Amino acid sequence: MSKSLEFLTEALRRLPGVGPKSAQRMAFHLLQHDREGAAQLSRALYQAVDAVHHCALCNTFTETETCDTCIDEERDRRLLCVVETPADQMMIEQTLTYKGLYFVLMGRLSPLDGIGPKDIHLEKLLARASDGVVSEVVLATNFTNEGEATAHYISEMLKARGLQVSRLARGVPVGGELEYVDAGTIARAMLDRRST
Ligand SMILES: [Zn+2]
Repeated sequence: MSKSLEFLTEALRRLPGVGPKSAQRMAFHLLQHDREGAAQLSRALYQAVDAVHHCALCNTFTETETCDTCIDEERDRRLLCVVETPADQMMIEQTLTYKGLYFVLMGRLSPLDGIGPKDIHLEKLLARASDGVVSEVVLATNFTNEGEATAHYISEMLKARGLQVSRLARGVPVGGELEYVDAGTIARAMLDRRST
């Protein structure tokens, strides 16, 4: 195989769930059938890597120092909802029942995969929740084993600092990922949240 082709295949293998065979298939496809798409992909990647950073306050992806949600004057700054991903945040936004702010972990605790407290920015969360304005932290991690373990860990950490912590109610099915739960169910789980 050509050096460049090998280099491309290696790069594609960095995508989650992509093994050597599918990486090779993708590389062949791009070079054989979609050179314009390949060029677009490379430009988009370059631009995103250069421009997208983490919000200084909530940790989500943004191209500015602080994201639009965090600087929104209409938001209730006493409420801070902790979610695993920007997709989960979007799901909660769609319910139109929550008007507070967010903190996006960009992951969950997963000891088996070597993902510890440091990897999900818990120090940043602690600093954010201790700003003196936040009065309740709502844990909206997924109802999977890892999401529950993450919620428990964060709850203990924040309660040790005297913060009030609540958890989405059990409307969301066990093992449920927010991303795949309907907005009505999440809305009810938010309204019925209970302190931990
Ligand atoms: Zn933000």
